[in-house]
Amino acid sequence: MRVFDELSKYGYEQLVFANDEVSGLRAVIAIHDTTLGPALGGCRMWPYESEEEAVIDALRLARGMTYKSAAAGLNLGGGKAVIIGDPRKDKSEALLRAFGRFVDTLGGRYITAEDVGIRGEDVEIIHMETGYVVGLPSGPGAGGDPSPVTAYGVIRGIIACLEEVFGDGSLSGRSVAVQGIGNVGYSIVKYLAKEGAKVYVADVFQERVDAVVEEFGVEPVSPDEIYDTECDVFCPCALGGVINGETVTRLRCKIVAGSANNQLRDESHGDALEDLGILYAPDYIINAGGVINVAEELYGYDRERALRKAGYVYDRIKSVIEIAKREGISPHLAASRLAEERIGKIGGIHRIYVPRHAVCRRAVT
Ligand code: NAD
Repeated sequence: MRVFDELSKYGYEQLVFANDEVSGLRAVIAIHDTTLGPALGGCRMWPYESEEEAVIDALRLARGMTYKSAAAGLNLGGGKAVIIGDPRKDKSEALLRAFGRFVDTLGGRYITAEDVGIRGEDVEIIHMETGYVVGLPSGPGAGGDPSPVTAYGVIRGIIACLEEVFGDGSLSGRSVAVQGIGNVGYSIVKYLAKEGAKVYVADVFQERVDAVVEEFGVEPVSPDEIYDTECDVFCPCALGGVINGETVTRLRCKIVAGSANNQLRDESHGDALEDLGILYAPDYIINAGGVINVAEELYGYDRERALRKAGYVYDRIKSVIEIAKREGISPHLAASRLAEERIGKIGGIHRIYVPRHAVCRRAVT
């Protein structure tokens, strides 16, 4: 890999390699863009097969965070860290603290959080060495489980889509097929059931399905059948890549709107949805409640404020739809446009000189 060519391709600012012989830490921190503020993004621990794979993953994920935070209206840039190793075997207090010390050396240009392979309790250990960390599970200023906030944002996004497609955002009597009844999926099902929607649910763990069937009287379908289920909204809340060449033509819905990250296997599947007349709520716009929730920790966490801000997902989805119509492009491209427009405009106002430090002031004689 030609590192500087790779960085130039999408305008990355900084790539940091961290190595510690004592703890065995090998980490990569990628900072994509800090126009709007410090680069925030989780730390992933994964047994990458090669160093190149780790670097590419860090870069790709960091860029994704720039777009997610920019579109969510946050004053944050995009960054991501990866630790090379198996989280089940290689994780230790020393390794996590060594990582925290390297994060601290960046002086706040990068703020870390949990991601795949790094749990809340690991974040607490990282926090022993740096204040540049969010996503603490408990204690003063901790945001706790972000899932209910994410779910609320998704519901607001679904309402915006319903208004666009049916001219009425009411959930009552609408049918929604929820794929994945985990932390976010459960909260979404609860909300939908309360609002009187007809809800179909699928999960690879039958006990999760049984629990919501029992609690909310929703209808179970198999993990495979969920794609063919006739409904108004298909709500993916499990894994990425579920909108792909095999599934896209099976969908019997008018809207795809859910919390899962990277729902489109590739960009062409966003166009395929558009061609089929299915409105797609871009994943990183509709699931922004998660990052909004952790970002709140930077200002003194307040759940009510986090929920209120997650509610703005409704407005962002409306903006995406408006840009898509105006430019004649698919919503997934309109989402990038929304983020890029904000970075361009807010970056632009930084040219206005603000005399915060009186370094240029001459003595009065
Ligand atoms: P989770 O692990 O709690 O839940 C995922 C659920 O999906 C599990 O119950 C799992 O059994 C199920 N599942 C896996 N494969 C499936 C399949 N093929 N068919 C049906 N079900 C399947 O995760 P979560 O925290 O609820 O997050 C769900 C999705 O939303 C993930 O993609 C996550 O990255 C994304 N997301 C979550 C948050 C958050 O606040 N938790 C924020 C933003 C994005």
